[in-house]
Amino acid sequence: MSKEVIEKAPAKINLSLDVLHKREDGFHELEMVMTSIDLADHLTLKSLPEDKIVIQSNNGFLPLDQRNHAYKAALLVKETFGIQLGVEMLIKKKIPIAAGLAGGSSDAAATLRGLNQLWKLGLSLDELAVLGAQVGSDVPYCVYGGTAFATGRGEKIERLSDIPQCWVVLVKPKKGISTGTVFSALSYESLQHPATRSMVSAIENQDYLKMTQLTGNALEETSIIRQPAIEKIKQKMLLFGADTALMSGSGPTIFALCHKYSRAQRVYNGLKGFCNEVYLVRTLK
Ligand code: ATP
Repeated sequence: MSKEVIEKAPAKINLSLDVLHKREDGFHELEMVMTSIDLADHLTLKSLPEDKIVIQSNNGFLPLDQRNHAYKAALLVKETFGIQLGVEMLIKKKIPIAAGLAGGSSDAAATLRGLNQLWKLGLSLDELAVLGAQVGSDVPYCVYGGTAFATGRGEKIERLSDIPQCWVVLVKPKKGISTGTVFSALSYESLQHPATRSMVSAIENQDYLKMTQLTGNALEETSIIRQPAIEKIKQKMLLFGADTALMSGSGPTIFALCHKYSRAQRVYNGLKGFCNEVYLVRTLK
């Protein structure tokens, strides 16, 4: 049995996010296009002979008990397959927390992939994704990573071609936003619906220009009302030459896409003087 497994857990951004309606089960019916970016947590997993789950992290704000999504994923694997062994996980956190970048979901997905390897479970990615849906709606997508079209509450995944390579500048405003608050404040009549299916076609056609023209997020307006800084940052990104700028998930992180590195640097440097948490990364295949 291998003793240690290291898994990369990348963040995602939403190129398109639409809310269709609220379902009877309380979840929202969504249509989203997601893509992975090279801003990632790293998880080191070690098998323990004792039946326990131990989590450590470099980030002092992260819950290390059953509230941690990685813990939930490990417990689910143990219970589903009746595994008596334990696991010790070190989560090296780089993805900002509660930022709209699916950091927790990606850690859960990395835990599923890592334990599959560590405990030689022989599960396919599809099987891990089905398990992941029990931990959270974004976990199935994070199991695969890359670019995908997600429907349902986000758990039904259709994998897409990689998007044309580009640079991503991210700004995480200081104040966080809770996903629940944003969804409960939505006013369905005035929602701006992005053309998510056209975004899928633009990606399949590798049409970068079209892709940047079609970015949209139905949650953005509601989050901007709660946090006007989001709109200000978006406008600054566009002013510095971004090809497009959009809030990711329920926010508050805003991302800019730039085809040229020099442009991305200009956006990065411009925003660096204005905000603390600014990142310049590539998209991931
Ligand atoms: P999403 O885009 O899926 O809504 P997010 O990026 O907005 O996710 P997360 O970073 O996943 O948000 O954090 C949301 C909540 O989950 C926080 O309150 C955080 O304390 C909790 N959480 C539990 N486990 C983790 C983890 N491993 N990493 C980050 N947050 C976690």
